[in-house]
Amino acid sequence: MNRLYAIGEVLIDFIPLQKGCALKDVRSFERAPGGAPANVAAAVAKYGASAHVLTKLGRDAFGDFLLEELHNAGVDTTHVKRTDEANTGLAFVSLKDNGERDFSFYRKPSADLLLSENEIDAALFQTGDILHFGSVDLVDSPMKQAHRKAIRAVKETGGLVSFDPNVRLPLWNDAEDCRRAILEFLPKAHLVKISDEELAFITGIEDEETAILSLFRGDVQAVVYTRGAHGAELYTANGSYTAPGFKVDAQDTTGAGDAFVGGMLFHLLQKEASPSNLTSLLDEHHAEILRFANASGALTTTNKGAISALPDKAAVEALMHFQNT
Ligand code: ATP
Repeated sequence: MNRLYAIGEVLIDFIPLQKGCALKDVRSFERAPGGAPANVAAAVAKYGASAHVLTKLGRDAFGDFLLEELHNAGVDTTHVKRTDEANTGLAFVSLKDNGERDFSFYRKPSADLLLSENEIDAALFQTGDILHFGSVDLVDSPMKQAHRKAIRAVKETGGLVSFDPNVRLPLWNDAEDCRRAILEFLPKAHLVKISDEELAFITGIEDEETAILSLFRGDVQAVVYTRGAHGAELYTANGSYTAPGFKVDAQDTTGAGDAFVGGMLFHLLQKEASPSNLTSLLDEHHAEILRFANASGALTTTNKGAISALPDKAAVEALMHFQNT
């Protein structure tokens, strides 16, 4: 069975119990397992495919908690490393009145950033596997090198690489550092998911279509552009496809993008996607894949948190069945 490997941060999001105040004024928080790669892996596992995470956790209670949560979500944690040298990553979040989020990350460094290239076993990957990564762990660290090795190794087996920039500016010295890292790694991916909020920042281009087309560089064969409640657009070398969003009662959009990517990668694993058939698979099955991914993202917004809010496959299929978009 083809497997997903998601490399990067696995952390705890501490979500405020009060809304509408600055982070310094929040009195109490609720813990939620998170980190985009963990969310994507949990979605893929929940839909029924094999999903692993490649990360490092502190040998602390928060690391124990995350390991347990990943395991409960069906994610294979065999390759998760532990360390005494740093604590498990934490992110404290505040929700402003306008719905925007403020983050304060505890990672100077956190354990995930210490995963080194020596701890990536190149022999792990087999033909048909997919590697997914984001930009949160691309700051200069052993983990950045670990990403390079994992990407090289999965490509050597003929596997597919998927990238979601997932811009988090507070993690970077300045915005230019973040953009530079994204632009270095993006061309290594075959599939890129980007949101409407990130496109102009990453490309420096205001016109949407021109900006999306500018992302076809290096190995990139497909760009999927997500537009929140409006759904998503998929671009391949042969054209573009639009899929409207599902109408749901959105409560918390945390993890919607990851649930979308998880839904898409689940389908690509099922269809044995590889760099040599990705474009034709997407051209042929775009409607089915985008619909499933949109339904997966939409349902995740109807509950609080990311992993805890993921729907199961039956719920996704029910929404697709009852709502004809
Ligand atoms: P995240 O909040 O996880 O960072 P993102 O910015 O990466 O998300 P979005 O474009 O906000 O990505 O959402 C991803 C997908 O989730 C959308 O393409 C859509 O399918 C679904 N989605 C997000 N918000 C809504 C909503 N309010 N109603 C319905 N579907 C939604």
